[in-house]
Amino acid sequence: MSERDERQQQAARLDEQIAGMEQSLESGQEALTAMKMAREALIEPPRKVTACRLRKHFAVVSKSSYAVDCSECHKESFGLEDDWTHCPKCGSVITEVYRENDPTARMQDKAAKELLDKLQKEIVNV
Ligand SMILES: [Zn+2]
Repeated sequence: MSERDERQQQAARLDEQIAGMEQSLESGQEALTAMKMAREALIEPPRKVTACRLRKHFAVVSKSSYAVDCSECHKESFGLEDDWTHCPKCGSVITEVYRENDPTARMQDKAAKELLDKLQKEIVNV
């Protein structure tokens, strides 16, 4: 066997070994990533699931679009769909959607809250 042939043979063997090593490094990396993800999931405190009720506002915004407010975050969302499972604003699980019979109470709530906020701000500023 010539020296040239021998060198080529050795190079071919190394090629194989390199390919094998690359493959095992790759699968090792995948396993490492999976293990890290599993560890993260264990360290992270379980996400708190909150439940909320959506109050469908008496007045329709448009023909088929309802405004709702959330009992949990008190934020308003528009365009309620039947398949909503979570509050779009805070992600609480919707346990019930109910239509308000009278918007007065909500208006009063809102007015009272705004007044309270305003008063609190004024107290802070004094
Ligand atoms: Zn909410």
